[in-house]
Amino acid sequence: MLTNRQLFLDHLAQTTDFPLMIEIVNAEGIYMYDPDGKAYIDLISGIGVSSVGHRHPRVVAAAKEQLDKYMHLMVYGEYVQSPQVKLAEAITKTLPDNLDAIYLVNSGSEAVEGALKLAKRYTGRPHILSAVNAYHGSSHGALSAGGNEIFKRNYRPLVPGHSHIPFNDMAALEQINNQTAAVILETVQGEAGIRVASQDYLSAVRKRCNDVGALLILDEIQAGFGRTGKFWAFEHYDVVPDIVVSAKGMGGGMPIGAFISSKAIMDVLKENPILGHITTFGGHPVSAAASLAALQVTIEEKLPEQVAEKAALFKQQLKHPKIKEIRNLGLMMAVAFESFEVLKPIIDRAIELGVVTDWFLFCDNAMRIAPPLTITPEEIKKACSLILQAIDEVTD
Ligand code: PMP
Repeated sequence: MLTNRQLFLDHLAQTTDFPLMIEIVNAEGIYMYDPDGKAYIDLISGIGVSSVGHRHPRVVAAAKEQLDKYMHLMVYGEYVQSPQVKLAEAITKTLPDNLDAIYLVNSGSEAVEGALKLAKRYTGRPHILSAVNAYHGSSHGALSAGGNEIFKRNYRPLVPGHSHIPFNDMAALEQINNQTAAVILETVQGEAGIRVASQDYLSAVRKRCNDVGALLILDEIQAGFGRTGKFWAFEHYDVVPDIVVSAKGMGGGMPIGAFISSKAIMDVLKENPILGHITTFGGHPVSAAASLAALQVTIEEKLPEQVAEKAALFKQQLKHPKIKEIRNLGLMMAVAFESFEVLKPIIDRAIELGVVTDWFLFCDNAMRIAPPLTITPEEIKKACSLILQAIDEVTD
């Protein structure tokens, strides 16, 4: 009989030459377990997803309760479904007053697609500006907004009307003009290897958008839902976007995403001819129920409030001559080494020692650290000591 690992290689379409290839049969809290019962600390939360930990009991209970009532009933936006409206109400409460209409979708990429379409339709303008090294997703529109040429070149022609400005660069902001439908930015660039928007920069982008009538879209797909120490990363800034996009941690481990704006802006999507954004599974009731539970856990367990202290503990523990720099906003961290050649064996050895990390799409010399926000100080110390052991064992 073929093993699951062989079946993985034989029949699952591959995304990379070197998949992590860990087989997991069970996961709980910060831990994942392989078929032999070996425990792995998940320091990347399945790329920023399991912020409340794997299988948080309240998330599991909410999903099970919903499974016993109904699963898919109808495409998004037709029937009144309690999990969707309860989730929308709860998310609205976390946001400024102008962000009061939530469009539920399936994923981050789809949320970005929706946001870009909304901005074009609302403003009637053709151009979207995004940042160099931005990552907004893998579908055609989201990829067009992405700011890394290497990842785009095999898919041209992409969607026209997209251009890119250097992140955190004030001088480039004059490119935002009266043809710009929207500027889309990650509040903290994730796949670029954790690059935090500066206060002055985001304020200046906001002002320039106001001056020329462009919308500001903030992509909080990695940074939102508590990861940076505020429920939304833009709360660190004196800036309110016109549209927010969310996914990943939003679902507590279930697939869901959203683009969020004001009712006034969002209402253009229902004008005739309709075809605003149609999604069959968007806001799936089981995902929506899980998402509401994840949101409640995040707020009631005061997870964002603990983030700064936990991030500081990581930084204090991860001191080593091979570590060149640690960039972070809260528990969105990049631990930089000299090169990928130095980093890769460290990651491989750390996995053998029972700690899972990886690197970033556009920054392969930095280790990604984005643990469940529920991680305890003892668990942080244990994970860091294993990483330091890995560094010592594979470097000279
Ligand atoms: N935006 C950002 C900032 C992301 O990090 C990601 C996923 N890494 C996406 C969008 C796309 O999300 P998804 O993979 O759910 O389509």
